[in-house]
Amino acid sequence: MSTYFMPTKIIKGEGCVKENAQLLLLGKRAFIVTGKSSGKLSGALDDVTEILESNNIPYLVYDKIENNPDIEDMAEGGRACREFYADFIIAIGGGSPLDAAKAISVYCTNEPRECSDFTLYDIFTGNYKSLPLPMCAIPTTAGTGSEVTPYSILTLHKEQTKRSFSSPYVFYKTAFLDSRYTKALPLQITRNTAVDAMCHLLEGYTNKKSSDLTDHTALYGLTLIGECISCLITGDISMEQRDKLLYASLLGGIVISQTGTTIVHSMGYQLTYFHGIPHGMANGYLVYEYLMGVYKVNRQKADSVLFALGFKAPAEFKEFLTKILPRPQGFTPSELEDFANTSIKARNVAACPFDVTRDDEIGIYKRSLL
Ligand code: NAP
Ligand code: FE
Repeated sequence: MSTYFMPTKIIKGEGCVKENAQLLLLGKRAFIVTGKSSGKLSGALDDVTEILESNNIPYLVYDKIENNPDIEDMAEGGRACREFYADFIIAIGGGSPLDAAKAISVYCTNEPRECSDFTLYDIFTGNYKSLPLPMCAIPTTAGTGSEVTPYSILTLHKEQTKRSFSSPYVFYKTAFLDSRYTKALPLQITRNTAVDAMCHLLEGYTNKKSSDLTDHTALYGLTLIGECISCLITGDISMEQRDKLLYASLLGGIVISQTGTTIVHSMGYQLTYFHGIPHGMANGYLVYEYLMGVYKVNRQKADSVLFALGFKAPAEFKEFLTKILPRPQGFTPSELEDFANTSIKARNVAACPFDVTRDDEIGIYKRSLL
């Protein structure tokens, strides 16, 4: 048996925000969630504020979202949103602002208070008394697919890691995909985010929860990434290729919205939390060893991944990753053993197609990073 639920309306193509301005207007007062620079550099913020102004919709630009947002800052954003009496949210940016907006929408309508029936940490339960605010999303990176997932990944200092919450109520109502908004991305961020999209597709395709529907979507997405391998290496990326990367990212989001991810993601959170390694890069360090694990239990699927990406052998896949990611440095064997104490507790360990113990994760960490 399999189910499929992804309720976001997707609008894709050059100029899609301005051409569908009415779909952006989900209420009477808008709270715009974005990062320090992504809204402006992408050009999306100007397009959005022009539409709001011409429709006389009051708005507040909340551009305080840091990379890897933490729950404390999200509660603060929720308070600002409540105090502005916003009734809808527009998220603009990479996965950090897009995930942040989901958390802010929950905290806005469910004020967290100590010793009450909704505290800061209850966001992870997915049980909310009041519905989060309606939201639309404009991605400015091509990687997370957060515009079509019910997940938000937040930094949790209490447990020194990142953790996701999931709720059908935080799916975006509308996602606007215009690859021109990704044009100002620096090369290394383009590479990291492309690797993240590739990992979503690969982890979704090999996931225990995969189905025919997600498999076809994932293989097509991997083919699109495959068509961008050489430009990701050279760094000479055309608009047509940016379009493919954004589409692949969207498909990756659609796939994991059904399957979830695997240990590549949960092990990567430790690298981000303790070493500040960007999310996609962290996944990229671990994904080769993960694929080797898949090889042992489902050679056909592992081969299909390589074929779709355009590689003849696993070594070519490894070489590609080495070319586009900086060499990992500064890890010690003992800290990697500590990382595994946390990462082995993640829910998505059970979604791996092969059995994974703490010792297996330590082996993957060491072979990938030392
Ligand atoms: P990001 O953290 O959102 O952004 C990385 C950097 O890129 C930031 O410095 C950002 O600037 C900059 N940037 C973004 N768009 C730009 C543009 N068009 N031009 C120039 N600079 C731009 O990176 P991300 O990889 O997209 O998102 C990673 C986050 O998403 C992580 O927290 C990860 O855990 C999460 N994630 C979520 C899901 C999900 O399903 N919800 C899936 C995978 C990952 P600003 O700081 O100024 O914005
Ligand atoms: Fe990811």
